[in-house]
Amino acid sequence: MKKYEGKSVFGGIAIGKVLVYKKGEQQVKRWRVSDVKAEIQRFEDAKMAAVEQLKQLYDKAVREVGEASAAIFEIHQMMLDDLDYIDSIHNMIETQEVNAEYAVAATSDNFAMMFSSMDDDYMKERAADVKDVSERVLAILNGGSKSTVDTDEPVIIVADDLAPSETVQLDKDKVLAFVTVHGSSNSHTAILARTMGIPALIGTPVDLDSVDGKMAVVDGYAGAFIVDPDGDTMTQMEEKKKKDQEKKELLQTLKGKENITLDGKKVMVYANIGNIKDLAMVLQNDAGGIGLFRSEFIYLEHDDYPTEEEQFKIYKAVAETMAGKRVIIRTLDIGADKQAAYFNMDHEENPALGYRAIRICLTREEIFRTQLRAIFRASAYGKISVMYPMIISMDEVKKIKKIAAEVKAELAEQNIAVGEVEQGIMIETPAAVMISESLAKEVDFFSIGTNDLTQYTLAIDRQNPKLEDFYDPHHPAVLNMIRMTVENAHKAGIWAGICGELGADLELTKFFLSIGVDELSVSPGSVLAVRKAILETDVEKEREEQLKKWL
Ligand code: PEP
Ligand code: MG
Repeated sequence: MKKYEGKSVFGGIAIGKVLVYKKGEQQVKRWRVSDVKAEIQRFEDAKMAAVEQLKQLYDKAVREVGEASAAIFEIHQMMLDDLDYIDSIHNMIETQEVNAEYAVAATSDNFAMMFSSMDDDYMKERAADVKDVSERVLAILNGGSKSTVDTDEPVIIVADDLAPSETVQLDKDKVLAFVTVHGSSNSHTAILARTMGIPALIGTPVDLDSVDGKMAVVDGYAGAFIVDPDGDTMTQMEEKKKKDQEKKELLQTLKGKENITLDGKKVMVYANIGNIKDLAMVLQNDAGGIGLFRSEFIYLEHDDYPTEEEQFKIYKAVAETMAGKRVIIRTLDIGADKQAAYFNMDHEENPALGYRAIRICLTREEIFRTQLRAIFRASAYGKISVMYPMIISMDEVKKIKKIAAEVKAELAEQNIAVGEVEQGIMIETPAAVMISESLAKEVDFFSIGTNDLTQYTLAIDRQNPKLEDFYDPHHPAVLNMIRMTVENAHKAGIWAGICGELGADLELTKFFLSIGVDELSVSPGSVLAVRKAILETDVEKEREEQLKKWL
């Protein structure tokens, strides 16, 4: 038995087999081979295995997201059959007597460079595809499979670190828990674990090779990862898991109850989602609506820009499933840690302060307009609101509103039905807080993104694991920013909520209610615990003490 300590980002107990997750990006070494024929055969075998994987992915995608989205896997198969690509690899192995991995990686780089230098936009985008499909072959040559959980039984995923684009591709039904060596508790992998309601540890110093395939326990309460647990530990953990389950069942008795404080203040408790599949958890936990749909996860799941039709289908399905409850779709918040290769973004020194979110939407309007058309069209099928991320100025809000009005007018001209769509903004920069009095007059609601607001207020990179101890969302500067935002919202007669991770912090529920927060949007698994805290609060009685305690 071996026990590792990590930092917990979500509680819960998971017991199961470990699967060490291999990175999408393969490390490639070059070495000399003596039998070039055998090496070419090794490449051909890997290529065939890759084609087989792609066929299966295509069938799965057709079933889950439709033929149009699945087409990318067909394109990848065609690329693997491309004679120029194959000739280049064969030739390199033969003439340079190098290993297949090196030949694939070098060919991939050359082809990607060639595609990206083309004038045609379609061809330019193929650069990302040739890299992607080559990585699949490389993963097979290295004895793994690319970005998939290749298992029949649910497993504990252990990895060095996970990028949002990697986590999003995992088959959620097969994941019991996450354990990573690196990563930060404010990263989107941590957020995903919370959304899925499964235990997750970061900063766990595991030797990956020594744990693969072993039986293990993740204790998300104690921050422990126990590999090869002995009999006693296993019994203890099974007992703990049972108790955890009982507690969760007790919370289930709060289903159907209103979120109302002891002194009668009503609060909206909504859920955050990143994917249509998260809706099951939302319904199971009785959330009053969706307070944050991170739409960029749709983009991360695709190998190319999702079309209006693809997006429309997803938004419509969410609106219909929520059956008249509010669904707030946040427009594309890509950039920083959330990267999709086909956006072809330049390398940036400070990506969190860089070209991201609304900045991309306002400079690449065609992407923004496509998304807005899809959102507005879906609004005819439920109660959809839209909100915009990373706002820093009034000018941005005015531009956004102009574009949104044009998109609506265009739809009206085409006789396409559109519902009443409230437009809100995320307050996640100190700039937005400081001008929130004016911004409030322009929009229908505010949603405070405390993850980024903490990052930008405290000048702390939320992704940097070394800064975990400095990243303090309880800092009075952050809490005062939240108070100011809520006050300015109310002055203009609009509502203000919190959709960052802090919304689920039960230590702060009383404080949030004291400053008048109208909505808390949390991971689906936290909805009932937040409801319980609201039911136990007397706002009037506790206000003064709360303000004194936190500000
Ligand atoms: C936030 O910043 O608090 C937020 C909700 O957005 P994200 O975590 O997706 O950046
Ligand atoms: Mg944010």
